[in-house]
Amino acid sequence: MIELTTGSVINWSVVLSVGYFMNKSSKLLNKVEELTITDALTGIYNRRYFDFIMEKTIPFSKKNNTPLIFMLLDIDHFKKVNDNFGHQCGDEALKHISDIIGSNVRDTDAFVRFGGEEFAVIMPNTDVDEGLIIAELIREAIEKSGFTYNNERIYFTISIGVSSYNGEEIEEFIEKTDTALYKAKENGRNQIAIFN
Ligand code: GH3
Ligand code: MG
Ligand code: MG
Repeated sequence: MIELTTGSVINWSVVLSVGYFMNKSSKLLNKVEELTITDALTGIYNRRYFDFIMEKTIPFSKKNNTPLIFMLLDIDHFKKVNDNFGHQCGDEALKHISDIIGSNVRDTDAFVRFGGEEFAVIMPNTDVDEGLIIAELIREAIEKSGFTYNNERIYFTISIGVSSYNGEEIEEFIEKTDTALYKAKENGRNQIAIFN
């Protein structure tokens, strides 16, 4: 009887220990998974998450015949911020701008750092008119919002390329949006251009 009880206690402690470590490692795994889709500087999602969402959203849009908007947003003359105020200031500015964009997109939109000083927003169930309204809100909010660094007030503008999904492959959808962004830059920056 005593032996049985002792044995049980040992067994249970083993079970509990294994359970504890499994729980811990699963939490750790979740954390690692979260980190692989998060941009370290801004805390928003990264390009990997973008690919994942695009691969889910495009078939959904095709199957249900719902509109889908994709926008690329690139900060204007950002190199000058680094050149004039230093890389640390550039980093702070990226966080600041990312916060502004993030507060103007909807919960149903996917907002990511696409790379460097470029951001992307995927907007499911959104038509061109709605997409342009949100793009304009973001453009205006960034233009108005100054950023203070070492007692210096710095202002930014952003150029936005917008395109609407029309049955093409992912690469072409990105290409279309990039073409629109290029047009916005070419036309003088601080504006929105739509691919048509
Ligand atoms: P444009 O209006 O044509 O977009 O001009 P731009 O200066 O913004 O574009 P360019 O591609 O010439 O320069 C982008 C700059 O963004 C250069 C690069 O050092 C800076 N940059 C990219 N990622 C980061 C970052 O994580 N931190 C900082 N501080 N700078 C970054
Ligand atoms: Mg760029
Ligand atoms: Mg730029």
